[in-house]
Amino acid sequence: MRYGRHGPQAYDAKYARYVAEIKCAKCGEEEALIGERTGPNNENITVTCEKCGLVWDRDFTPRCATCGTTNVYPAFQAILDKSRGTQLSIQSMRLVHLCPVCEPEKHAVYSQTNSPIPPDTLPVETNE
Ligand SMILES: [Zn+2]
Ligand SMILES: [Zn+2]
Repeated sequence: MRYGRHGPQAYDAKYARYVAEIKCAKCGEEEALIGERTGPNNENITVTCEKCGLVWDRDFTPRCATCGTTNVYPAFQAILDKSRGTQLSIQSMRLVHLCPVCEPEKHAVYSQTNSPIPPDTLPVETNE
């Protein structure tokens, strides 16, 4: 195989730029990421980091689902699961975006504590 005068590095650098588009916001992992198409028309891509368990939507422009602003702040939300018995434990994290207009309380709490915000709904017993 022949390379141009820039050698193989030039191609690697180009490839690296594409890869760097997806990166775990929590641990920085770029390789062990699983992308899954979700949504009614497969228009979303949900990415899961195999390393630390963070889950996020690969959204090119994060925006508030309520008011549509792009002036949102990234935050981690805990995903709880029932471990043995009734004890709830943090299973993994999800990257969400807080809107300072629609969710001022959540945003204020997160910016003060910087700890993962609790899930919207707790897992409940189902009789399926
Ligand atoms: Zn990670
Ligand atoms: Zn909003």
